[in-house]
Amino acid sequence: MQRFIHTAFIFFLFLMNFQQIMSQSEAKLTWSVQMPEPYTHYFTVKLIIENNHADSLKVQMPVWTPGSYLVREYAKNVENFQVKNSQGKVLSFKKYNKNSWQIAANGSEKIEISYQSYAYELSVRTCFLSDEYAYINGAGLFLYLADQPSKGGTLLVEAAPQFKKLSTALSHKQKGNSWEIAVPDFDTLVDSPILVGNQELMDFKAAGVPHQLAIVGGGNYDSARMVSNIQRIVEVETKLFGSNPCNHYLFIVLNTESSYGGLEHLFSTSLIYPRWRYKPDGTYMKFLGLAAHEYFHLWNVKRIRPIELGPFDYSNENYTDLLWQVEGFTSYYDDYFLRRAGLMSEDAYLAVLAENIAYALNTPGSLVEPLADASFDTWIKFYRKNENSVNANVSYYVKGAAVAFMLDALIRANSEGKNSLDDVLRHLYQHYYQELGRGFTDAELKTTLEKFTQTNLDQFYADYIYGTKALDYPKYLSMLGLAVEAETMDPDKVYFGVNTKNEGDNIIVTEVFKDSPAWKAGINVNDELIAVNDYRFKSNLSEMLQNFAQNETVNVLVSRDGILQNIKVTLGSNPRVKLKIFPDQNATSAQKAYFQDWIKAVD
Ligand SMILES: [Zn+2]
Repeated sequence: MQRFIHTAFIFFLFLMNFQQIMSQSEAKLTWSVQMPEPYTHYFTVKLIIENNHADSLKVQMPVWTPGSYLVREYAKNVENFQVKNSQGKVLSFKKYNKNSWQIAANGSEKIEISYQSYAYELSVRTCFLSDEYAYINGAGLFLYLADQPSKGGTLLVEAAPQFKKLSTALSHKQKGNSWEIAVPDFDTLVDSPILVGNQELMDFKAAGVPHQLAIVGGGNYDSARMVSNIQRIVEVETKLFGSNPCNHYLFIVLNTESSYGGLEHLFSTSLIYPRWRYKPDGTYMKFLGLAAHEYFHLWNVKRIRPIELGPFDYSNENYTDLLWQVEGFTSYYDDYFLRRAGLMSEDAYLAVLAENIAYALNTPGSLVEPLADASFDTWIKFYRKNENSVNANVSYYVKGAAVAFMLDALIRANSEGKNSLDDVLRHLYQHYYQELGRGFTDAELKTTLEKFTQTNLDQFYADYIYGTKALDYPKYLSMLGLAVEAETMDPDKVYFGVNTKNEGDNIIVTEVFKDSPAWKAGINVNDELIAVNDYRFKSNLSEMLQNFAQNETVNVLVSRDGILQNIKVTLGSNPRVKLKIFPDQNATSAQKAYFQDWIKAVD
């Protein structure tokens, strides 16, 4: 007995010691953000590391933000980087690459890193600070420990005195003009944008989940209508999966003069939208489509994801072949959900689908770059467009949406209306996210698609995913009892084949379309178009060219880098097509039934 007490006592001492060792080894992180002079666009940022036992510490700042596949070099905005210990003694540090700092801690248990970060790029993937509000995308502002990249802690935000509200999906407590925010891990910090200002807030429930809209920047939106439309979208999207994984969700909306875009997050999204385009209804649909798109990402990519997209390496490009699935499927469903929700008419939806398919037909790059390559190379191509991108690259959003439609039609037809692309998403969600807790590989996605299309997709992949074969869209439309008419755009008009911008009275070429008359004649980007057959161009190039005939050869006077040149151009006709998709009266009754099931608005 005594021996047992002795052993137990030693074991107790061991446990105490073990706990002590554990608590010693566990560093504690506190990030803080201040905005003392918001009009200067500088955030003052700190990372305080307590309980440090390392002699040398590496900290890093992300170079990119998930969902936006471009190395943005956030560290370029960092100034006045300093490190101190708890006694205020300055500690030395050295940058060892563009986004990493090595700190000589020299036994200091508490280390305070401070810097200022310039924030004046208004987008959903950067940080912005002005007199109006502060928008924080965590990847653009915060440091992480290189050897524990996912470590969380606490974030303290001290708002500028004129800002009274803070919106974020992270749980937070307000104390006066400051907020204490719980950071479960660094990924969630990066994945939870923060808006600080005097935003309009609208709370509502949808699919049983509390949602909030936080809007800045003014505009002609109708709050009540927006809430009711978004509720409907949330409900229709949740219905696809059967349940909603969020216990709260935040829409941050930044209204601006002309920017448009969104970024998806786990429990929130940031949307940027032109403030006067909430009216008329046609342009308002663009806002609802954007909201539907980003909301759908809470499943498709935040939870259902390619295996390469998590955990993230914030210091390097994260490559995947599958953005055509991530963004293509989401782009297919965004407008389709508006139809399912009854917010868009059948005809309007068929017109949107026609535009997506026509994009693939009309974009020269669609016959050059396969969707898988466009996904992989997005870091250097789609996100770094130049004057030749239209000829060399394809959008995995728009062509991806057309391919998603083709797969949906194939599944519906081959399963005799029993299944649809919805089943593929449900399967990916349940099997890979819920059961296995991981992403899927290229092969696993293909196997899943084959299971529901009930067919071998080797040729489909060779043609449309790894290849650039022109889409056989009539075949897939007919599976849902749809007919299509293709007509040449502007059949009577003369076609030249450039995009231009006006600089004063000067017309400057910005893009030359591959194989167009201008391309074949050697018109270059940056050429100033001065005259045709000795007649001076006025500001409207296209109008002037209509005085000539298709197939007529004309003399175009250009100024190229200040030197005049005469270039002979044989004018042509526009090769681009417009599509009209409509129900085919001659479709079989089965096809008509598949169409009805696909196009109907749901309860
Ligand atoms: Zn997207």
